[in-house]
Amino acid sequence: MRLVMFDDDRIGVLSAEGVHDVTRVLPEALRGTPGSMNALIERWEGLRPAVERLAGETEPRPPAAVRLLPPVRRPTQILAAPTNYRLHMQEMRGTPMGVRTTTGRVTPRDIGFFLKAPGSLAGPADAIELPPFPGRRFDHESELALVIGREARAVKGSRAYDHIFGYTCLVDVSMRMTEERREERTMRKSFATFTPIGPALVTADEVPHPDRLQVRLWVSDELRQDANTRDLIVGIPELMEIASAVLPLQPGDIYATGTPAGVGPIADGDVVTIEIEQVGRMSLPVRTRAW
Ligand code: MN
Repeated sequence: MRLVMFDDDRIGVLSAEGVHDVTRVLPEALRGTPGSMNALIERWEGLRPAVERLAGETEPRPPAAVRLLPPVRRPTQILAAPTNYRLHMQEMRGTPMGVRTTTGRVTPRDIGFFLKAPGSLAGPADAIELPPFPGRRFDHESELALVIGREARAVKGSRAYDHIFGYTCLVDVSMRMTEERREERTMRKSFATFTPIGPALVTADEVPHPDRLQVRLWVSDELRQDANTRDLIVGIPELMEIASAVLPLQPGDIYATGTPAGVGPIADGDVVTIEIEQVGRMSLPVRTRAW
């Protein structure tokens, strides 16, 4: 199933016909709030039949007639894998960002995960807004994101998929360091709108092989990234093992699995399109932040 949030925090099922409003599967107190999707994820086993039934009964609304929001609005945390594709590791060597890559010890197995602020989330109807920092470079990173289903605490890799609710596309927008300016990674990746996700949260049963998905990203008409999740250095089960050994991952948490080669700059006027096989596709305009 492809779940979306739209308009004033309503929950929908996206089908070929459009968006079916299933908000009323939730208890009344949990409807229409930014945490509604987290509430649905937590109650999924009990509510799934009702979601399916309601989706079948509700007249679809054309996707253009609604405003899609990030499919998860209130993750308690957004975790992200550092360098996790070999070709991307090579392209980062010799750059200010890639100092540590000369030792090769930069994968999630070596250095774990980093965090992006939940306040940086954006959705499929939003623009990527670049802050007015003259001379700085802003890059796109296309990534498959996991969304946690059941709390994951010290999970073994062999049980990791039991804790994954589904998948979504994520662009890990990043301000690059320079020789002079070496801000914390968390800050460089946490500007407002620097974590677009969507268009839908696709339940895990629809993605039987998340370790074999083609991931592509275009800037305007130029294909910049084209890779497959089979080339992840540290795979999904081990990513889950690494993070959940540090802290419990909660329903609705987001975990970006890392970007492949082809990372490059974006600028005002570009359109970034991310597409992941079986997961979805969305296009986001890039503009200079107005505030
Ligand atoms: Mn990244």
